[in-house]
Amino acid sequence: MTNQRNAQNHTHYDVVIIGAGASGLYCALTAGRRGRRVLVLDHANKAGKKILMSGGGRCNFTNYFVEPEHFIGANPHFCKSALSRYPSWEFIGMVESHKIAYHEREHGQLFCDDSAQDILSMLLDECAAVGVQVKLNAQIDHVKTAAHDNGERFCLTTSKKLGKKDIARGAQSSQTGYSCESLVVATGGLSIPTMGASGIGYELAQQFGHTLVPTDASLVPFTFTDKTGELIRALAGISLPVIASNERISFKLPVLFTHRGLSGPAMLQLSNYWQTGETISINLLPEIDVTELLLARKKSHPRQLIRTVLAENTDNALPKKLLAALQTHLWEDIKDTELANIKDERLTELGITLNGWKLKPSGTEGYRTAEVTRGGVKTDEVSSKTMQSNLQDGLYFIGEVLDVTGWLGGYNFQWAWASGFVSGEIV
Ligand SMILES: Cc1cc2nc3c(=O)[nH]c(=O)nc-3n(C[C@H](O)[C@H](O)[C@H](O)COP(=O)(O)OP(=O)(O)OC[C@H]3O[C@@H](n4cnc5c(N)ncnc54)[C@H](O)[C@@H]3O)c2cc1C
Repeated sequence: MTNQRNAQNHTHYDVVIIGAGASGLYCALTAGRRGRRVLVLDHANKAGKKILMSGGGRCNFTNYFVEPEHFIGANPHFCKSALSRYPSWEFIGMVESHKIAYHEREHGQLFCDDSAQDILSMLLDECAAVGVQVKLNAQIDHVKTAAHDNGERFCLTTSKKLGKKDIARGAQSSQTGYSCESLVVATGGLSIPTMGASGIGYELAQQFGHTLVPTDASLVPFTFTDKTGELIRALAGISLPVIASNERISFKLPVLFTHRGLSGPAMLQLSNYWQTGETISINLLPEIDVTELLLARKKSHPRQLIRTVLAENTDNALPKKLLAALQTHLWEDIKDTELANIKDERLTELGITLNGWKLKPSGTEGYRTAEVTRGGVKTDEVSSKTMQSNLQDGLYFIGEVLDVTGWLGGYNFQWAWASGFVSGEIV
């Protein structure tokens, strides 16, 4: 099938992919390698903006250890097939064949040595090599089903997204029509709207009868109001290893106090599993049983103060500023009281608090800073082998628009590559 014009003056492609992000580009290059005529449409002025900003500009492009357990979604089995057909070493192989230098960080995370631009250039080069066309500044106006003559299943109308300068010049946007046999929705989630995120993927899903699992910002810092918020904000800049948990999961990772709340890998990971109104627990001294330590010291060094004991613990000591703030917050009334004169119950209570500080976030920073969007197109209505809709032939959903959310650590890109690959093999 070529990209000829049909009776309605639509330019025809075998495959039209909406979204020139991670999953869309991977699907495009895979389909292009099979000789399919592929067009990728994106309303942004640049492809792969999230790839460029990912991993602090170095793109944590995958992970050595990818398991279905690293993903959440209403159907935890959905991701298994694609992840096993496209394991992380496939992507690593492509990175190596492009001679992109990379390194491993803790927990098997792989980052570019130089820049995330290397990954985006690799994907765009691979697309160009197989004739994929990428059209930017393309606003999607309408998508509808076609008569399915000559392989046409869908018709799309787009118009050129006008920039500020175009609008100032009084330029008019002209419409362009496309038809295609396979339509792939690769429009990502709602996080970071300034990077081009929009809800169009969900709208298209609903247009074709799909159900949505409610969406929420995820891999996102927590915010706090009240006195705890004040305490946390006063400690901005402090980072320490903790165990952060709720009733369902625990992460032993660093937490970072910020002037907006709590961030750092421990909090971002926990946010994937957090529901509004829930309490979280932070073990500030994960290597020590604080109750045991305080009670033992009361016996061996009865004249010591609580802060002395906690500060002495050199390997695991709390940062001084945090210790001082916790003292004000938790044991101000007995701060200068010797251990001998503090009841065991009070020391036990304090130990329990330091090993499991209960906090109730007022919310999260939301889509403005979230790395991903949780929820999305319900996976029970999509084939786990091909990503094709069970409700509309020729329609595919890939990447973050689906109700599949990965942990921090390169898992979300691995899902984008894997779902892009399995769909690209069949579109
Ligand atoms: C700051 C940040 C850092 C991250 N770092 C990492 C990391 O290091 N490792 C990792 O694994 N994951 C990371 N992620 C998550 C990762 O970027 C996403 O999960 C991944 O990009 C999802 O791929 P996708 O193809 O589904 O969507 P995207 O890559 O978001 O692509 C969607 C595309 O669709 C386009 N689009 C949206 N709406 C429309 C519309 N109306 N019309 C036309 N086009 C549209 C967008 O412009 C975009 O180009 C990070 C995310 C953020 C925000």
